[in-house]
Amino acid sequence: MAKSIMIVDDSATMRKIIMRTINMSGLEFDRTEEAGNGAEALEKMGANPVEIMLCDVNMPEMSGTELVKKVREVSAYADTKIIMVSTESSQELIDNTIADGANGFITKPFTPEKFQEELSPYMK
Ligand SMILES: [Mg+2]
Repeated sequence: MAKSIMIVDDSATMRKIIMRTINMSGLEFDRTEEAGNGAEALEKMGANPVEIMLCDVNMPEMSGTELVKKVREVSAYADTKIIMVSTESSQELIDNTIADGANGFITKPFTPEKFQEELSPYMK
């Protein structure tokens, strides 16, 4: 089944590292999008929605926590899975973000195994 993913992070280097880690994990996507902040991600979703979003927390213009809320306001994106990827790992942040509608939370530094574990349930 065709799968699409968007990597949302304000660091281009981090987006590359995440992409490489996904490739190492063995997960395969037919389409990969990138966005530098939440606003850009929403714009790209509007044009061409993806099934899975990997989302940084701290970004200029629109943070990842704001992006989660915005995506969850759109019924057309109800099935979009949002996995946060962040150096921030406080339980409060994780709990709040999940309560806002994120599906998972990966903390940096991460491993290919971690991506495999978090994303494979959504690859069917
Ligand atoms: Mg950031």
